[in-house]
Amino acid sequence: MKSLQPELERRSKEYLYRRRRVVESPQGPVLSVDGRQMLAFCSNDYLGLANHPEVVAALQRGAEQYGAGSGAAHLVTGHSQAHHALEEELAAFTGRPRALLFSSGYQANLGVIGALLGRGDLLCEDRLNHASLVEGGLLSRARMRRFPHRDMAALGRVLSKSGHGDCLVATDGLFSMDGDLAPLPEMARLCNERGAWLLVDDAHGLGVLGRGGRGTIDHFGLGVESVPILMGTLGKAFGTSGAFVAGSEALIETLIQQARSYIYTTASPPALAEATRASLRLVQAADDRRQWLRELIALFRAGAEALGLPLMPSETPIQPLLAGTSARALAWGAALEQQGILVSAIRPPTVPEGSARLRITLSAAHSRQQVERLLGAMEALSLGDE
Ligand SMILES: *Cc1c(COP(=O)(O)O)cnc(C)c1O
Repeated sequence: MKSLQPELERRSKEYLYRRRRVVESPQGPVLSVDGRQMLAFCSNDYLGLANHPEVVAALQRGAEQYGAGSGAAHLVTGHSQAHHALEEELAAFTGRPRALLFSSGYQANLGVIGALLGRGDLLCEDRLNHASLVEGGLLSRARMRRFPHRDMAALGRVLSKSGHGDCLVATDGLFSMDGDLAPLPEMARLCNERGAWLLVDDAHGLGVLGRGGRGTIDHFGLGVESVPILMGTLGKAFGTSGAFVAGSEALIETLIQQARSYIYTTASPPALAEATRASLRLVQAADDRRQWLRELIALFRAGAEALGLPLMPSETPIQPLLAGTSARALAWGAALEQQGILVSAIRPPTVPEGSARLRITLSAAHSRQQVERLLGAMEALSLGDE
């Protein structure tokens, strides 16, 4: 049998080895990690709802009513009243005829792409799309064309030569590692011209951008006519877990019939759906949290700019600092960790070669003092000097 050790050693030598930390506390700006209190800037809990008392109480009530597990897939007996109510509320929230719950965003992307495309069809993707959108394409057996990040002229060229067959354009709404937005109005126009479907994965935009947290599509003033397929996740700003796809009646019925990652998996616990219903109510009423988050983003960017740090053009809670090499990103992360601050170093293949970075994420749960402490630690390390 082949030895696995050489590959593990290669990863380690190239600063690509990944390790897990063990967290002992609930989510929040201060985490107890591996026995140590750390100030954290790495979660996607943008609104601070993951440990909100109303969400936790709804999970507990849900467990009392439905027990721990769903017992089966949605198409057998796993589809509870809690799931059903949440789907109706997500459809209303996103202004779409229907929504369908998935157990994770990863599965939702595999399911949608696989249900809509097959051999002979075409899938166009931004080069920086999330891994699950890429995997969905590979599984579907459609031809895949990846265009340079946010390059609409390149997308236009691909679409003009797309030939016959169905065509789907898929993009992150708010890019998970760069924090910038897809140019959705232009993208929607190109898709409309070609008669292509547009799928927006808004894992990071929902709850954060748009009116009442309706996300990137709403931020651009677009709706279901221009972006027929919205995928949203519930483990980020919603603070719980799972995902959904929202769109037309025919889209959702097609997914129920054909999305394999929907059909062949156990429904998530009904109690979790109850928790998400509570968090959806909070998200819609969270204009004050979104306002505070914008103030923290402005505070961080102004401070980082004054220190000469390598900021990227992002106006969102995702604020990457470009390090270049994996070694450098890891060294920055380790230096901050020594000061009691946790920031994730993101390396290839999650980001392109040569663009390793610290991925700093801000949350409405952070205080001004905490962001100032982060800036102070960065100043002490002179991260901007080289
Ligand atoms: C996190 C994420 C996913 C996956 O969602 P999960 O529910 O965590 O599986 C998909 N797309 C994007 C852009 C993400 O950031």
